[in-house]
Amino acid sequence: MRRIEDLRSSRRIAKRVQEIRPSGIRRFFDLIAGRDDIISLGVGEPDFSVPWRIREEIIYALEKGYTAYTSNFGLKELREGIVEYYKKFGVKAYPEQVIITCGVSEALDLAVRTLVDHGDVVLIPEPCYVSYKPLTYICNGEPVELSTLPDFKLTYEKLMSAANFKPKILIINYPNNPTGVTYSRRELEEIADAAVELDMTIISDEIYAELTYSEKHTSIASLNGMEDRVIVLNGFSKSFAMTGLRIGFAIAPLDVLEGMLKIHQYTMLCAPTPSQIGALEALKCLDEVEKMRTEYMRRRNYVLKELKKVTELPKPEGAFYAFPKIPIEMSSEEFAEKLLIEKSVAVVPGNAFGESGEGFVRLSYAVKFEKLREALNRIVDFIDKYAKS
Ligand code: PLP
Repeated sequence: MRRIEDLRSSRRIAKRVQEIRPSGIRRFFDLIAGRDDIISLGVGEPDFSVPWRIREEIIYALEKGYTAYTSNFGLKELREGIVEYYKKFGVKAYPEQVIITCGVSEALDLAVRTLVDHGDVVLIPEPCYVSYKPLTYICNGEPVELSTLPDFKLTYEKLMSAANFKPKILIINYPNNPTGVTYSRRELEEIADAAVELDMTIISDEIYAELTYSEKHTSIASLNGMEDRVIVLNGFSKSFAMTGLRIGFAIAPLDVLEGMLKIHQYTMLCAPTPSQIGALEALKCLDEVEKMRTEYMRRRNYVLKELKKVTELPKPEGAFYAFPKIPIEMSSEEFAEKLLIEKSVAVVPGNAFGESGEGFVRLSYAVKFEKLREALNRIVDFIDKYAKS
């Protein structure tokens, strides 16, 4: 048998793919794989189990043998349920505008592939979720990064400063991964005004909508005149702790939805049937989401209080991340690596989320409170030590 290293040749791999950098998060996690002594504030994954009622419904679906394909669109009852559910975020839509996907990841892929022609400019406010840029690139689009520094908020002025690039698409995500920042209705109106002026279609990744701590989440698709300009993406991974069950959805104008469906039917066919049945049950379990949200908020308050002793950070208003500034002379990679080696705490270097994330690190508080407390003690100690030296 040949050696494993020899089972690789870069000659046949498309240049576009060769040029994609592996995710900075993954690279970091390879470093800690298999080490039990580490407290990881790295992964963006709920520490809760899927609520029991949802699991039961999935088990029951399997027992009844519901394992065939569904329609390409997804289960009709689930699409109807999502239309009802999304009214709470202000969106009025028809079930025909909804497609069920394998996580928000697939919905995002479908939306970008449906909208992006060769050379189209996609505006990507940064720091941002790691997949927006590579995905645009894979689709032969031109990603243009827009820094949201210093406060990590996208504004009318920041958006208009990119007018010269003639962007066709804007990808927004709020509550935001990695910063935890979110937007009020008034702030969203500014973004909507700029989108109209620049004639952009918005892909709005609202995967953390349920995990909002002060104001209620408003979808940008609910603003006057935006229903034809916005593709809403959301799913069950984060708010319902269903990451491995792979259910997301998009609510889109009909032309966009039909384009997305064309790709979905030839690539994915449908989202997993038992998981779709679980998602239908999830929509009846919002009380479970509320319990998780309350616990995340308790942790958010604690993280904010502790970190403020040693550094500055934008107040996380949603999701389960904090994005503190590194208050000592270290790059974000250096900080994360030294913290890992010296204190056995894993965080993600901010530059994994784009250049404007340099000088910051991302902490996920989707870990049990006791571990979080211990990790923060160690982080505060670590910063104190280097601040004094
Ligand atoms: N969008 C954002 C902002 C995320 O943080 C994540 C996962 O971390 C995803 C999309 C992917 O979610 P899913 O598990 O639904 O594919």
